[in-house]
Amino acid sequence: MLHIPRVQLKADSARSRIYRYLYESREFCVKQTLAKQCDVSMPTLYQNLAELMEDGLVRYSGKEQSTGGRRAQGLEIVPDARYAVGISVMESRLRFSAADLRLNELAYHEAPFADIARLTEAVPRELDAFLDDRGLERKRMLGVGITIPGIVTPECDRIVMAPTLHLRNAPLLALAQDIPYPVYIVNDASSSGYAEWFACGESRNMAYLSLENGVGGAVLADSVPYGGDNGRSGEFGHICVEPGGLPCSCGRRGCLEAYCSARRITEELGVSPDDFFVGVERHEPAYETLLYDMLRHLAVGINNIHMALDCDVVLGGILSEYLQPYLPSLRRYVLAGNPFEPDAGFVRLSTLRKHTAPLGAALFFIREFVSGV
Ligand SMILES: [Zn+2]
Repeated sequence: MLHIPRVQLKADSARSRIYRYLYESREFCVKQTLAKQCDVSMPTLYQNLAELMEDGLVRYSGKEQSTGGRRAQGLEIVPDARYAVGISVMESRLRFSAADLRLNELAYHEAPFADIARLTEAVPRELDAFLDDRGLERKRMLGVGITIPGIVTPECDRIVMAPTLHLRNAPLLALAQDIPYPVYIVNDASSSGYAEWFACGESRNMAYLSLENGVGGAVLADSVPYGGDNGRSGEFGHICVEPGGLPCSCGRRGCLEAYCSARRITEELGVSPDDFFVGVERHEPAYETLLYDMLRHLAVGINNIHMALDCDVVLGGILSEYLQPYLPSLRRYVLAGNPFEPDAGFVRLSTLRKHTAPLGAALFFIREFVSGV
């Protein structure tokens, strides 16, 4: 069944405040601190803690600390009290991640997948096998987030366009109907950005730019993903960085995706990103020329994104894994085109390396649960 997760930022019961404080605080926490931080009396705290413990959501941490003569026990949330599953639909495989409430990956699985026409059969079948094989209890599961490499309507009922899956205006409701859990369907780059934002843990606003065969992204504003009116926010791949330039998969010319995708490397040089960056390290002229052309156009795209959103721009996706040695050059290009910033520290590389799209899809259900306890 289709379900669009919502984060309840204003849930403000004592129970909710206590749980969220324990969830957000990574430090040793005793009852006295908890009562003070959550602004509740000790009797209220005891009553709510008893309920949270009975529900299996909170436990003693097993750590003790001296509080002036007495030893006090610490408290913590139970991370695996619930979990959510994320599924990435890719051109030739399905990727499954199960994540606990702290987004720790509990299990991962890849299944080959070739026939997009059979998506609605393949996903429920492989999901069942995944849950059985990994011994994941169904009653603790919050929901299933599914990522699609394309634009999905905000209602999750239709794929507007997914060039790598060769789909346009394709219905999605059958996919949700055949899965007996709450299902949310989201763009893969938006999902990866959400996971990255959560992993960073400190910045409220972030623009995420995913550099894969396609180029996409996500906007995280005030702690929630900003989807826009049509669910197309963060489609940074189709920002124009060179009017009249290289042809793009969207049918126009000069888009960021046409200049800064892994596909460009394969099409122009016939090599994988891995071989490409080896060639760049060896100073092969054609490879270096292409890399610096990509970096210059990437800098134009980054400046446009930063000018519009005024927040960190985090680079993710397969190409970001190779960019560390070239980050100083990229930042120099960015700075040359930016009239306001003293440095280009706002350009960062993703900290998450693996399974970002399925983990981000699971995160939608996790944050909904945590905000509603
Ligand atoms: Zn385009």
